[in-house]
Formats: sequence, C-alpha cells, structure tokens
Amino acid sequence: MNNLLTKHILEDLSNRERFRQSLLEWYDENQRELPWRTDPSLYKTVISEFMLQQTRVSTVLPYFQKWIIKFPDFPSLAQAKEEDILKGWEGLGYYSRARNLHKLSQIISTQESIPHDVNFWKSLPGIGPYIAAAVTSISFNQKEAVCDGNVVRVLTRFFGNGEKFKDGAYAQKKLQPLAHVLMPDDRTGDYNQAFMELGATVCHRQSPLCTTCPVLKFCKCGQRGDAENFPVMEKKKKTVQEIDRLWIKSSNALLLQKGKMGNNRLAGIYELPLNTKLGPYIKGKFISLKKRTIGQVLYQESIYWGSISKTLELDEYSLEWVQWKDIEEITISGPHRKWIKEIIQSIESDHT
Ligand code: SF4
Repeated sequence: MNNLLTKHILEDLSNRERFRQSLLEWYDENQRELPWRTDPSLYKTVISEFMLQQTRVSTVLPYFQKWIIKFPDFPSLAQAKEEDILKGWEGLGYYSRARNLHKLSQIISTQESIPHDVNFWKSLPGIGPYIAAAVTSISFNQKEAVCDGNVVRVLTRFFGNGEKFKDGAYAQKKLQPLAHVLMPDDRTGDYNQAFMELGATVCHRQSPLCTTCPVLKFCKCGQRGDAENFPVMEKKKKTVQEIDRLWIKSSNALLLQKGKMGNNRLAGIYELPLNTKLGPYIKGKFISLKKRTIGQVLYQESIYWGSISKTLELDEYSLEWVQWKDIEEITISGPHRKWIKEIIQSIESDHT
C-alpha cells in the first residue's frame, strides 16, 4: 500500500510534517462546534462515535443532547433499563448500537481504571477498528489512525489511487496503513478529527472545494482537477423488496407488531404489522406506498387497511394493541412513527 507514497510529495518526511501542520492549523481555525468537542470526555466521545456510525452529524445533534441529559455517564447508562435506552435511541435506527452501548457501559463501569490500549477497546461490544482508533486517539492520544469513508475519499485523491475497491469496508481496511504512516506522534486525536473534518466539509464527494483546500499542494487529484473520479468503487446492483403492511385500528388503539427478542435487529421495537401470506389478517383498501433504501436494497412498503379475527392469539404473532395515549411512550422504529403520523393526518383530513 505504501508504494502509493513512492514519488509522491508526501514521501519526503519534511513535506509530511508540513502537511500535518497545515491540516492541524486549518482544523484549529475551522472545526465545527459540536457538543462532543466542547468540554470533551471519554463518555461523550464514545456516545458520539456510536451515534455517528451510518448517521449524519445533523441527524445526531438533537439525539446527542437529549441522551447526555438522560444518561450523563457510563454508570447511569449501565444501570438503565434496556427499554429506556431503546426509547432514547428511537429514530436513529440500527438499534444494535444502543444495545452494545448498554453492554459496553456495564463493562466500563466495572473497571478500576479504564485501559488506553486499542486492543481492549476492540474487545468491547460494538467496537470495530474505526471506533477503537477514534476513541483511543481522541481520549488517550494513542497513535491509532482512523480510516472511515471520509479518509478513504481524501487519501485516494491525494495519491490519485484508481484501484477499484469492492466496497467501502474493504477500501478502509486497505488504506488504513497509509493513514497510519501519515499520522503525527502528537495531537493524534485532533489529527484524526481534522482528516475526517476535511473529508466532511471540504473534500466533498461531488464538487470538492479544491481551490480553497488547506492541503491542495499535497494532493495529486486536487491539482489535476479530476478529484470527483476518486475513489473508484465497484458498482453494486440494487435489489427491490416489496412488503405489505397493515393499518389495523380500533377507536382507542392501534395494532402493532413487536420485534422478537434475541438476535433480531428490531428486538423490542414496534412496527406496523407485516401482512405475510400465512398471516391471520384481512387485507383491505390501499392507503399508501413508502420507499426507502437500506444498503443495496430498495424497500417498497405498501400499507393497507386491515382487520383481524377477534379470536386471534395476538402473542403468537407478536401483536399488541397499543392505546393511542401510549403511542408516544413506546419505541417505534423511526420510519414507522413517521408513517403513523402521516396516516393519522391523512385520515383526519379525509374526515374534514
Ligand atoms: S485538494 Fe481537493 S481533492 Fe485534494 S484533498 Fe483538497 S478538496 Fe480533496
């Protein structure tokens, strides 16, 4: 991998030092004000890194603020009930992150002193190489380079690396040693954050701001003007999955389905019931079509009016009548809560 350095301006150690300085000076002056950066702590760093996985900063901000008020430190999170933790996470999706944070805080709370070693962090629930490097560099100044999507984009552009990567995770793994070589010995947490900040705010996927980039003179593609062509990823075919769901209501309740406990990614989370062929439902008129993409799959979910027989064993299908007055209290998956609000509004507007 480090043969990318050969004949590149950053092969020279003094240039590498100049690059680090330029990046850190830019970061000192231009970093975004984020709540986990002001008055930082290990706890805030861990929470923010978990929330930011697969989720934008702008989405995370309100969740982070509420979370810190509700669960201010590792012990309070360790002692919290799982249902309260899931409720605090509602809308962020990928609920295994919340469950892993719960387990992790229980482990951390039993440590007499918290280890700084990256391998300890990698052994904790929900922590992969990226979070381990981010946490240990930011909180303990360990020399561990992060390599996320932002870093991959900047590195491939710096070096004009046209290798076709099969996916983002593979590119991150492959380029991590190069990220490590470029890293300074000091201010490692700031350096990691600066590199990612550059990717997030300057080196955009489309229309990167090369002319005002603080490290343009070290960047091959920035100088050539072809940065948008990098990184090169294999194109993946999107698949479509069609799903039917049902809107079954009574005057004082809505019928919802609760994800089964265990390894199910939606364990304990409520959604509108699925209309499976073997299901005990009667499907009525079409209400609405909802589309969303997760990874390479486009989900097209059609919602229909529905009803069930009064003798149906609800438990067998993980169904529950949830009183309208309790709807705000339970944890409903983000898109479903939005759909429920939309459907209620459209039903009400039909009746006015
Ligand atoms: S010069 Fe352009 S391509 Fe290179 S790092 Fe800066 S913004 Fe990205």
